[in-house]
Amino acid sequence: EKSALTHWYKGHLLAAKLFHHVLISTDEGKDAREYLRQRGFTKEAIDHFQIGYAPNSWDFLTNFLNKRELPMSEMVECGLLAVREFDKKPFDRFRDRIMFPIWNKQGEIIAFGGRILKDGNPKYLNSPESDVFNKSQILYYIHEARKVIRKKSEAVLFEGYVDVIAAWRAGIDNGVATLGTALTEGQVKLLHRNTDKVILCYDSDNAGQNATFKNAKILEQSGISVRVARLPDGMDPDDYIQKFGGERFSQDVIGQSLTLMGFKFQFFRRGKNLQDEGQRLEYIQSILHEISKLKHAVERDHYLRQLADEFSISLEALKQEQFQIYKSQS
Ligand code: ATP
Ligand code: MN
Ligand code: MN
Ligand code: MN
Repeated sequence: EKSALTHWYKGHLLAAKLFHHVLISTDEGKDAREYLRQRGFTKEAIDHFQIGYAPNSWDFLTNFLNKRELPMSEMVECGLLAVREFDKKPFDRFRDRIMFPIWNKQGEIIAFGGRILKDGNPKYLNSPESDVFNKSQILYYIHEARKVIRKKSEAVLFEGYVDVIAAWRAGIDNGVATLGTALTEGQVKLLHRNTDKVILCYDSDNAGQNATFKNAKILEQSGISVRVARLPDGMDPDDYIQKFGGERFSQDVIGQSLTLMGFKFQFFRRGKNLQDEGQRLEYIQSILHEISKLKHAVERDHYLRQLADEFSISLEALKQEQFQIYKSQS
């Protein structure tokens, strides 16, 4: 007798193959193909990431799974199907969406992310959480990227699967994604098992930058050293690659990523007018506070000089000020 888990994996795999087929070789998939083409998805990427399209139907996948004799109750439980409130009749959860399979670290498909083709809500519909899909424990694409991460001794962390895929087209094949901006201990462990160097490459909006600050701290506390990729305001990695191409992304964004302290110099500046004396002092205090947390004296000295130079303050004065911070911390 087959266990429920086997059915769950099988249902997802069959669904992925079906959606992929609909996308690449049916009339119904035409708009979706055009949408992906406009967003720069290559055929190679569509195949590699097994991207598909769920047609605009309430029973397309339901009937398909039914014919394969997969137990409907389990297909509902694992989130592939939903049920009607009043008579518990199953129906297709994902309709008229681009389908991104989500794998566990062993490479089994355990969930889908479905993107709407036009503007609308929700933009992404993910599978519901279940015994096998715990969003906060998943790193998208880790099952493939882990080999490369080990080889390059470095991982790149993105917010979304679209960014991982765009970066992959640009030759950055050690990228993985949290599904959103939150980073959990479980995900950190998963990363740390493969590398102790991570480049954070989140969106440049406020949510992305605040998450970068927060997640950098979490990573460093677990012994991973962090660099931060910089993107122009309002862009995410996929936008950047669309606009400037993959070569510039890998050279100017990934290749020129900042040290964590370099990132903080910019981060604390956000929304501040440094011509204003009060805001300037606030900024200097924040940076001094960060510098005082650095372990090595040489590093502290380096950044103190940078700060002194930038604002034409004497190094003496900065060191005095930093001494006060030290005292208040201990
Ligand atoms: P696109 O470029 O297609 O708009 P994106 O990756 O830039 O997609 P973001 O809004 O930056 O989208 O979100 C990043 C990630 O957060 C997504 O890949 C998805 O995993 C998750 N996410 C975003 N919006 C939702 C939502 N409404 N429901 C569930 N997850 C979401
Ligand atoms: Mn965002
Ligand atoms: Mn984004
Ligand atoms: Mn995007």
